[in-house]
Amino acid sequence: MYLDNSATTQVSKEVFEEMKPYFMEEFGNPSTLYKYGRESKKALDLARQRVADALNAKPEEIIFTSGGSESDNMALKGIAFKYLNQGKHIITTEIEHPAIKDTLKFLEGFDFKVTYLPVYENGIIKVEDLEEAITDDTILITIMHGNNEIGTIQPIEEIGKIAREKGIIFHTDAVQTFGKIEVDVEKLNVDLLSLSSHKINGPKGVGAIYIKKGVRLIPLIHGGGQEKGIRSGTENVPGIVGFGKACELAANQLEEHQEKLSSIRDELIDKVLSTIPEAHVNGDMENRLPNLVNFRFKAIEGESLILLLDAKDYQASTGSACSSNKLEASPVLTALGLDPVDVHGSLRISLAPESDKFDVDEFVDTVAQSVSRLREMSPLWNQDLDYDGVMCKKHGDDCRMC
Ligand SMILES: *Cc1c(COP(=O)(O)O)cnc(C)c1O
Repeated sequence: MYLDNSATTQVSKEVFEEMKPYFMEEFGNPSTLYKYGRESKKALDLARQRVADALNAKPEEIIFTSGGSESDNMALKGIAFKYLNQGKHIITTEIEHPAIKDTLKFLEGFDFKVTYLPVYENGIIKVEDLEEAITDDTILITIMHGNNEIGTIQPIEEIGKIAREKGIIFHTDAVQTFGKIEVDVEKLNVDLLSLSSHKINGPKGVGAIYIKKGVRLIPLIHGGGQEKGIRSGTENVPGIVGFGKACELAANQLEEHQEKLSSIRDELIDKVLSTIPEAHVNGDMENRLPNLVNFRFKAIEGESLILLLDAKDYQASTGSACSSNKLEASPVLTALGLDPVDVHGSLRISLAPESDKFDVDEFVDTVAQSVSRLREMSPLWNQDLDYDGVMCKKHGDDCRMC
C-alpha cells in the first residue's frame, strides 16, 4: 500500500494514454511550420489551456518548466535579478521546500537579505509578522501554499492582499495544494505560482509557473526563445501533454477527491490518536491538506518505523523525500518548536484518491504494533533500563538490545 503521495504519485491510465502518441507518431518540434510541428504545437496549446483553466488563469500566463524545483528557482532568481536595483530584501518562512530555501541561500550569496518568518506550533505564519517584516527594500515575498511535510496551509489570500497594497511581488509554491484544494490565482492574489506534474498523477520532469500578466522576470535558461523567451529549450511535448491531462482530471474531480481524502484522513487521525499512547499530529488540525497527515510518536526513530512498515508492505515516510536520506532533524518539524527528541519520531502519511481501497484499521494496528516494538527497545521510553551503567537492569547481563 503506497502512502507516500506527497513524494510522488503514479501516472494515471488516462494521462498515460494521452501522452502515448507524442513519443512516436506525433514527434514534431512545436517550433516548426510543417504538419508535424503544427500538431505538436496544437497539443501544447491544449495542455496550456487545461493548466490555465485549472488555475483560473489565462493560457498566456502559463510557462512550462521541468517541474516544481525549476519553477521555484525561476520565480526567485528571475525576480531577484530583475529588481535588484529597487531593493534586495526577500521575505519567506522557516518551512519552505528546499527548492525555495536553497535558492534563497544562493541569493544571500549575492547580498540579498532574507527574512524567515516563524511558523509557531501550528505550522502557520502570523500575518502581523509579515507586515512588520516588510521594508522599503522588500522586492519579493515567497510563501508556500501547502507544506509538503506537515500539510499546513498558509493564509495566501491575505498575504497576497498585503503584498498588493505594498506593491511587492508575491510568489507561492502550490505544488502540494494544486489538485487537492482550490487553487485560484485570482482569489489568492498571487503574481507567481509554482506547479509540478508528478504530484498530481502526471509524469515526472514537467511542471509550470503561472506568471501574472505584466510581471517581468529574468530567464534562467537562454536559447531558442521558446515559452515566450522565458524558458528556452525544445518543449517536453509528451510530458506537457500528460501534465495538461492530469490538470484537467484533477480539476474535474477536485471536490469529490477532497471529500474522500479528508474522510480517510480524519478516520486515520481518530484511530491513531485513540489507540497509540503518546501520539500527536504535527501542525494545525483545521488548516491542512485533505490528503496528508504527519504524526509524532514519542521515544522512537521515524526511520525505524518506516522500515518496519515497509516490511509489512506499507510505504510511508518520515518527512519529505528530499531529506529522508539525511539523518538530520527535519527543519520543518524543528520550526514548530518541538523538542529535538520528538522531532525524530515522525510519520508522514500522504493519500491518493485510490487510497479508499486501504484498510485504515489494519494499518493503524500495524503502526501500533511497530511503535510498541520500537518503544520496547527505546532508552527514551523504557525507564527500567539503566543506560548509564554497563549492565541492563531489566534484561540482565546477556541483554542484546542494550
Ligand atoms: C515536490 C515539491 C517540489 C519540487 O517539485 P519537482 O517537480 O519534484 O521538482 C517543490 N515544492 C514542493 C512543495 C514540493 O512538494
